[in-house]
Amino acid sequence: MPFSDIAGNRRVQDILKLALAHGRVPHALLFTGPQGVGKRETARTLAQALNCLNQADDACGKCESCQAVVKVYKDKATGRDKIGTHPDVIEYEIEVWKDKTSISIEQMRELKSLAGLKPMLGRKRIFLVDDADSMSEEAANSLLKILEEPPLFTHIVLLSDGTVPILPTIKSRCRILTFLPVSDEDIEKVLVARGVEPERARITALVVRGNLDRAMSLDWKEIETERREAWAIFEALTTGREAAALLRRFGSGRRKEVKEEMGRTLEMLAAFGRDAALLAEGGDVRLLLNPDYEHELRTCAGTLAPASALRIVGLLQEAQSSLDRNVHLGLLAAGLTARWRQAAISM
Ligand SMILES: [Zn+2]
Repeated sequence: MPFSDIAGNRRVQDILKLALAHGRVPHALLFTGPQGVGKRETARTLAQALNCLNQADDACGKCESCQAVVKVYKDKATGRDKIGTHPDVIEYEIEVWKDKTSISIEQMRELKSLAGLKPMLGRKRIFLVDDADSMSEEAANSLLKILEEPPLFTHIVLLSDGTVPILPTIKSRCRILTFLPVSDEDIEKVLVARGVEPERARITALVVRGNLDRAMSLDWKEIETERREAWAIFEALTTGREAAALLRRFGSGRRKEVKEEMGRTLEMLAAFGRDAALLAEGGDVRLLLNPDYEHELRTCAGTLAPASALRIVGLLQEAQSSLDRNVHLGLLAAGLTARWRQAAISM
């Protein structure tokens, strides 16, 4: 699809389009940024544009070459749906069906040997490496030479969501493009265009923290469940009914998933906090972010001074930035709980 069909991250798209127009797309690229913000879609569009039969600075999305890049097919070896039948656009992902948890050295050796071969159909040969940050040092080392001196017809795009820092030896050989979370407005627009009711689109956009993929895959029931859980935590911590609520929910589990869920929960808690502050100050109910929780919020806000509610919102915002800086999740939950209780009882 053309760049303009990808929501958010216009700056990155403009840089790539300019590079395409001047025939100066870097041969080694590193796309970094949080999950679900369009890194893979952008890489695929770049791959399409580099071989598009109709356009030079964008993907038409319609020609044979563009379509082959995103064609879905069933992989015979694994029985899984895969994307891309273009022989010159090759994607690597973690082979979870082989119980792998990282990009393997065998995959990177294969990339290296294929990178030297001339394109079969198109003008360029493009390699996408998903979860490039998962690569072992050994796998990364096998890539260094090809990143340093890639053949003129080869482009390598590494994708990383920053779960693990990328090795400096890799980073220094790539042009780095940083992707930002997609704005709430853009997410809302995409959802409404897909037929989601505006009120639900607004709440979904609010909780996914710029992760458009997540916004599109989350169904409303899941969001409702998560909001109910978030409300239970909000109430438990504010009234002191169950001080361990946050820790019980986020104290353990696989870091990547826990981090994502915690991010969404913090976002929901902050929205409840803003609503509680609004009600505690006697504000306009039409401004509530969670109008369907008005009754519960009123009961809870009755026990909270406006200043306390605002302090809690502040704490939640701080917790969100700590989460983005990769702190220890258990410690973050414990620290937030302690400060929340203090804020709730002080007047
Ligand atoms: Zn095309």
